[in-house]
Amino acid sequence: MIELIHVKKSFGAVSVLKDISLRVPRGGVVALIGPSGSGKSTLLRCLNLLTLPESGVIRVGRSTMDFTNGHQLPRDKDLAAFRARTGMVFQNFNLFPHMSVIRNVMEGPVTVLKVRPDEARQTALALLDKVGLRDKADVAPDKLSGGQKQRVAIARALAMKPEVMLFDEATSALDPELVGEVLAVVRQLAAEGMTMVLVTHEMAFAREVADTVVFMRDGVVVEDGPARQVIDTPREAATRAFLSHFH
Ligand code: ATP
Ligand code: MG
Repeated sequence: MIELIHVKKSFGAVSVLKDISLRVPRGGVVALIGPSGSGKSTLLRCLNLLTLPESGVIRVGRSTMDFTNGHQLPRDKDLAAFRARTGMVFQNFNLFPHMSVIRNVMEGPVTVLKVRPDEARQTALALLDKVGLRDKADVAPDKLSGGQKQRVAIARALAMKPEVMLFDEATSALDPELVGEVLAVVRQLAAEGMTMVLVTHEMAFAREVADTVVFMRDGVVVEDGPARQVIDTPREAATRAFLSHFH
């Protein structure tokens, strides 16, 4: 379960998240859509505390971080523990370039979770198998296509056994013919019951995989509802205007 309650975030004078409340039930999949600069990435970063909100409450599973007035900023140790509950996948993969594919997947479990290397290796192989890349285990990341890199990034995030997965435009940097293989992995995670928030410009995919679509503009949730309803028959003029760019 993921929850944001009255979350606010500004950068200097610019208010980027203006009192956002959002709930994703366990096993739920939310697609976050909206124009550039609407605050989608900032919202995701607040969810795993890469960015700290200035007020509000953030909850992932049983862990709660309270930023309402009067609460002290969390300690680094608590931030790290909270962050470990969320797996995040970015547009640009961010693989460790000097490590083989399997080393990329093993690194977090070995260094952060202190898993024994042989055990981490077995888990990594199983995850690479899951994303269809077991045969690439010993290859360097620069030998992979974008779609393959992104599937390694997903396997690497899953290796940390996150409670939730966050995707920030995971397919935006890919050539069109490589988008499908990454979406297939996300679709499979959804079917397995992973709780996820997907920032995406793939409207057909959002409609198919997400239960709920949330449309943001200027730091505000303008409209949210069942995926098909929001995408096929949006209630708000702003949502209609945004979606018209995708037809
Ligand atoms: P895009 O679709 O282009 O990725 P987005 O919806 O993800 O956009 P954000 O990246 O969350 O938007 O940015 C929202 C606003 O916050 C923008 O105006 C951006 O310039 C500003 N912003 C984001 N991060 C910072 C930062 N670290 N410092 C200052 N301003 C920032
Ligand atoms: Mg963004």
